[in-house]
Amino acid sequence: MARTRRQAAVAASGTWTDPDDGVRVPAGEVHAWLPGTNQTLCGLALSKTRLLRFPHIAWPEVQPESGGSADQVRRVCPRCAAAMGRRGGGKPWTRTDPRP
Ligand SMILES: [Zn+2]
Repeated sequence: MARTRRQAAVAASGTWTDPDDGVRVPAGEVHAWLPGTNQTLCGLALSKTRLLRFPHIAWPEVQPESGGSADQVRRVCPRCAAAMGRRGGGKPWTRTDPRP
């Protein structure tokens, strides 16, 4: 499962559908989520927090500085961002920070 972090999708507090292409995208606060699990990378249980799952949206797509699905995103969870190895943003997701 060494590639799990690169496969992370998105869980968000809201949803919005792009009228141009009909794709449902995250809105509000976004967290990183690994499809197949029931909690975010920062440890929030999806069932308790009522976060919505976006298995078709990859984590890099909701980063405000680089993502293509970030227009409705108001806040990126800093703990999930740290878990995903974000360091200033804008860099390709070719590797992750080896430290936990
Ligand atoms: Zn989070």
